[in-house]
Amino acid sequence: MKLLFKKEGKVIGDEFGHQHEEMLFESNRGFVRCCRSCGAFELRFGNAIIGMRLEELRLLTDTVSRLESEFTDESRPANDHAVIWLGHDGSGFRFRREEIAELHRLLAGARLFAMMSVDPSDLDSPC
Ligand SMILES: [Zn+2]
Repeated sequence: MKLLFKKEGKVIGDEFGHQHEEMLFESNRGFVRCCRSCGAFELRFGNAIIGMRLEELRLLTDTVSRLESEFTDESRPANDHAVIWLGHDGSGFRFRREEIAELHRLLAGARLFAMMSVDPSDLDSPC
C-alpha cells in the first residue's frame, strides 16, 4: 500500500471530494456515504476511514459477516479481536466483538441501499 499524507489542514476536514454525495447508512460509530456520480464509497468507523468501490463494499461486507459469525464460536475468548486486513502488506484494523457486530449492520445496510439505487449508466460521468 502506498501511504499518502495530505498537507496542511486537509486531513482534519470532513470533505469527501465528490459533489454528488449521498449518505447511505449510519450507526453509532460511523457511516457509509457514496458519490452518485462516480460510485465511490467511503466508510468511516471509529478512527478508520476506508474509500472503496461497490465491489469492495460487497467483499468487505462478506468478510465482516464471516468475522461476526466466527465470534459466536464459544471457544473464542470474550476479549478477542478480529482483524480486517487492507491488503497484503500488513496494514489493517482491529475490532472488538461488539464493533464487528455494529460494522456488519452498518455495511449490510449501506450495501442494501447501494444495490437498490446504483444506476450503472451513471457511473461513467465525472464527479
Ligand atoms: Zn464522485
